Amino acid sequence: MLDYIVVGLGLSGIALSNHLEARKRSFVVFEDDSQTSTKVAGGIYNPVILKRFTLAWEADKQINYSIPFYEKLEKKLGEDLLNSFNIYRRFHSVEEQNNWFEAADNFRLSPFLNTQLIREVNSFIPSDFSFGKVDKTGALDTDLLVNSYKKYLQSHQLLKNERFDYTKLKLKEDSVSYDGVEAKNILFCEGFGVVKNPYFNYLPLRGNKGEYLVIKSEDLQLKQAVKSSVFILPLGNDLYKVGATYNHEDKTQEPTLQAKEKLQRDLDQLITCTYEIVDQVAGIRPATSDRRPLVGNHPEHPRLFICNGFGSRGVLIAPLLSEKLLNFIEDDIPLPPEVDIARFQKKFYKSSF
Ligand SMILES: Cc1cc2nc3c(=O)[nH]c(=O)nc-3n(C[C@H](O)[C@H](O)[C@H](O)COP(=O)(O)OP(=O)(O)OC[C@H]3O[C@@H](n4cnc5c(N)ncnc54)[C@H](O)[C@@H]3O)c2cc1C
Repeated sequence: MLDYIVVGLGLSGIALSNHLEARKRSFVVFEDDSQTSTKVAGGIYNPVILKRFTLAWEADKQINYSIPFYEKLEKKLGEDLLNSFNIYRRFHSVEEQNNWFEAADNFRLSPFLNTQLIREVNSFIPSDFSFGKVDKTGALDTDLLVNSYKKYLQSHQLLKNERFDYTKLKLKEDSVSYDGVEAKNILFCEGFGVVKNPYFNYLPLRGNKGEYLVIKSEDLQLKQAVKSSVFILPLGNDLYKVGATYNHEDKTQEPTLQAKEKLQRDLDQLITCTYEIVDQVAGIRPATSDRRPLVGNHPEHPRLFICNGFGSRGVLIAPLLSEKLLNFIEDDIPLPPEVDIARFQKKFYKSSF
């Protein structure tokens, strides 16, 4: 009898598995490579919403927890996962500059919003209204994290590289069984894949498709990230990620010409040097209707749990929220009500009748 089955190895499943190991719990992970959100993500950690200069939900608390969490993972996996750099927000008007300085007076934002106006970041990125610098930001190499965590689990015989087939799950009062595996609890972390999960597909997880271009430019020589209508993120070796797009309608995983053309247009308004497009990637963000994560216990099956709905901020949310889910399961510590799926209980009973 295992303590847990984990379904899905994106940011959510990785954070949970890592906590389980730290707690010396026995577990096995199922992963079928059906979703790409974590793998294609920009991996940016940045507590500030750069459209409105507000703090993302609980992001100041999350960053203090998440960065040490990933630093420990770097040591465990022997990989350089974190790349710290500043993000420069290009201003489009004097009004935007004023809003930035007003926001920087807020004590929760002041550690991140630098109050020095930056005239130039790079000679190929002109700005009539200068740039604002965000401190304490950077990116997690999410693709490297997934690949190396997979190898780590494989080497400890903790990974089943296969689709979890919901029809084979048997629920008992104090355990679950699946294809010969018995466990006390099951943690569902399928990202947008949860729409196929008959136990949790009543939850309002809408999904939001995002696409990035990868460009190569020898001239640009940019070491920091710049945000205008799109982000440019340095990847090293003259490569940059440019994006991302947001699309509520299209739920396919493939890159589209429409997104490519939009990103190219935005990029051409941002940089003045030449570049070539070398790749394009796409994934579905697990976005929710009320922009809060979906965490907690199934209304009728006490052994089933979910850790999902991280939207566009999985890097910062996953480590702390997954720990809170385990505190809830193992120590009866209530979940924050704004993330607890109990808020959708009425929806569950409506959908069951
Ligand atoms: C283009 C783009 C850019 C982004 N940029 C950022 C960013 O810069 N910063 C940030 O913080 N976030 C970013 N995000 C959001 C971030 O990627 C997500 O919040 C996060 O990856 C969600 O992680 P997850 O583990 O919940 O879901 P996923 O990453 O989707 O992982 C779910 C896993 O479950 C597996 N799975 C599903 N169903 C089954 C099944 N039946 N059996 C077995 N396995 C299954 C899937 O294959 C997948 O690996 C971005 C997303 C996109 C698409």
